[in-house]
Amino acid sequence: MIKVFRLKIRYIILAAIFLFALTSAFNKVMNLLENRKVAVLSWTVANKVIVIDPGHGGIDPGSKGANGAIEKEITLDMSKKLAAVLSQAGAIVIMTRESDTDLSDPGGGPLITRKRQDLSRRVGMANDRGADAFISIHVNSFKSGIREHGAQTFYQPNSMEGAKLAKCIQGELVRLMKNTNRQAKAVDYYTTRNAKMPSAIVEIGFISNPKEEELMCEQGYQGKLAYAIYSGIVKYFAELATPTDGNIDKDKAIQTFMINKGEVCDAP
Ligand SMILES: [Zn+2]
Repeated sequence: MIKVFRLKIRYIILAAIFLFALTSAFNKVMNLLENRKVAVLSWTVANKVIVIDPGHGGIDPGSKGANGAIEKEITLDMSKKLAAVLSQAGAIVIMTRESDTDLSDPGGGPLITRKRQDLSRRVGMANDRGADAFISIHVNSFKSGIREHGAQTFYQPNSMEGAKLAKCIQGELVRLMKNTNRQAKAVDYYTTRNAKMPSAIVEIGFISNPKEEELMCEQGYQGKLAYAIYSGIVKYFAELATPTDGNIDKDKAIQTFMINKGEVCDAP
């Protein structure tokens, strides 16, 4: 009886190992297919004007970590990586700052006034250029809970497109970073409230968590985050480019075909 029982346990363990291996192989294949889908869909960001806003800078350092990391430096490094991957896909990228500066007038009064001027000019840059998307990069901080971790994307309450964009980005952060299950969240913030285009704020991690503070300073980790955010932006524009109701206006399609005589696209 004991022998039979032992034999059964062995089979159960083997079956569990087999199932685990099968599930992880399946997940790996699905992830690879998903990444290939993003590569195929990358054309949807070509010629899109995307404003990337590295949070803080100049007089405003943002949050600081226990080991000395500074938000304004991380956000700038991250934004440069995101700009590179988006530009490579053909997007027209505008950065609100490319060095350690802020956009307020030097000597322009108290800090609070300069901060407001800085934020107003950042979002003004996106509005003036008629950008297709505004992405602000920040770092989170929660001093009373140093275990809090993971990237999270925020959007302006009542902005349907902002919510769609933020959910696409957050979905890819969850899928690719594999270290957070946080959801996109609505929060009222000056820049997203005043942006006339779909906008999102990505808090890439918690500087108050010493482990994540270290990770966010690593070039490789920043690169992964940049790809995940890019992937979310691609998916957002791909969703816009896909007719979701299934009805195609045939006359309009023929008209478009007649205008575009095939100089751009080669025949299959
Ligand atoms: Zn910030």
